[in-house]
Amino acid sequence: MKTTTSNPNSVLKLYCNVFGHQYDVSKKVTKHVKEYTCKCCKKQLTTNGNGKLTELTPKFQEINSILEHIYTRRSMRLNQKLAS
Ligand SMILES: [Zn+2]
Repeated sequence: MKTTTSNPNSVLKLYCNVFGHQYDVSKKVTKHVKEYTCKCCKKQLTTNGNGKLTELTPKFQEINSILEHIYTRRSMRLNQKLAS
């Protein structure tokens, strides 16, 4: 007996389990920290403090937004220095 309860999302997840996730850079936080999203199941990863990939939890999203803020401000100041 075959059930027809499976939705496309679970099929995609199955695909990822078998073939691995298809990660794409979804956001560049800093030079070294990026956020990745799987093209198939939309799972999100980020680079942690050790330079390794980890799941993008709300805590990491918060850290990344702070990092991004510091990084943008720093690079803006650097650009101003170069311009003058
Ligand atoms: Zn995936």
